[in-house]
Amino acid sequence: MLDISDQKFLETADRAEALLRTSLLTLLHKAAETHRNHHDPEDIQRASLLSIKTGGCPEDCAYCPQSAHHKEVGLQKEHFFDPDTVIDLARKAKQAGAERFCMGAAWRKVRDGAEFDAILKMVRGVHALDMEACVTLGMLQPHHARALKQAGLTAYNHNLDTGPAFYNKIIGTRTYRDRLETLHHVRAAGITICCGGIIGMGETLRDRAEMLAVLAGFDPHPESVPINALIPVPGTPLSNRPRINAFEMVRMIATARILMPKTRVRLSAGRDGFSLSDQVLCFMAGANSIFYGDELLTAPNAPLSSDSALFEALSAVSDARSTGQPE
Ligand code: SF4
Repeated sequence: MLDISDQKFLETADRAEALLRTSLLTLLHKAAETHRNHHDPEDIQRASLLSIKTGGCPEDCAYCPQSAHHKEVGLQKEHFFDPDTVIDLARKAKQAGAERFCMGAAWRKVRDGAEFDAILKMVRGVHALDMEACVTLGMLQPHHARALKQAGLTAYNHNLDTGPAFYNKIIGTRTYRDRLETLHHVRAAGITICCGGIIGMGETLRDRAEMLAVLAGFDPHPESVPINALIPVPGTPLSNRPRINAFEMVRMIATARILMPKTRVRLSAGRDGFSLSDQVLCFMAGANSIFYGDELLTAPNAPLSSDSALFEALSAVSDARSTGQPE
């Protein structure tokens, strides 16, 4: 389990911090080189994310509008989706180009019973569509992880959110150790790990570096690392935080890419605030996945129309497409 006074952890955090502080063009070049040595640079996975149970969460995550602690948010609590509806939405997401379907429930932890059985049915249904299935359900026990694996789950998302030293300024209802324990159970069951965090919550560069050092300390590295930019939601304790600029995201993605060369790094929440050019820089830095669709759980995402323009801009130029050159 993590020891933040451990020499190896400190060395990795120092390296991560040095990378985060590197001049942008040098960092970008190094990350792009690493990315191209380990991935097809044209491969940008589209994942779709659905909230299957929204709001009323007993946890107190300061950034999250779904927490029952943040009463001023006024989020409409929604009931649990039924599996057939979820599987139908997954099918539609696949038709729209998604390869991975992620399902999130605003729970503190997984409980045995009808809702967990319904989750297993959803996972089986998504798996049968030949899509990667991912869930985020809070903390779980080893037998839950084994059942999810048996149902065909590809990945379990459980974010660290931030570095260990800053963590208790953001979450008071569960510990860093709780998070690491859940990740341990996930990996022990043979499910891949999707684990990342959020920048822009008031943390220092050192906190960002330490979060990346924890992730890079997993052996093997997490298969998937989502990097989110805070969306300051009115009514949450972080509502007054300014939005980060895209270069901070580029630096974070580039550093994650260098530290974890084979991981799929996901450009996640906050993308709606970035221009198409900002997002292209993120891909250059090593991001190779986006969430596709107008909403990310309860937060706005880049609209589908702008994503079509993004992929159009990234694709090869055919004769049929105008280059803006005079004829
Ligand atoms: S981030 Fe997850 S665990 Fe935290 S309050 Fe929101 S739904 Fe609950």
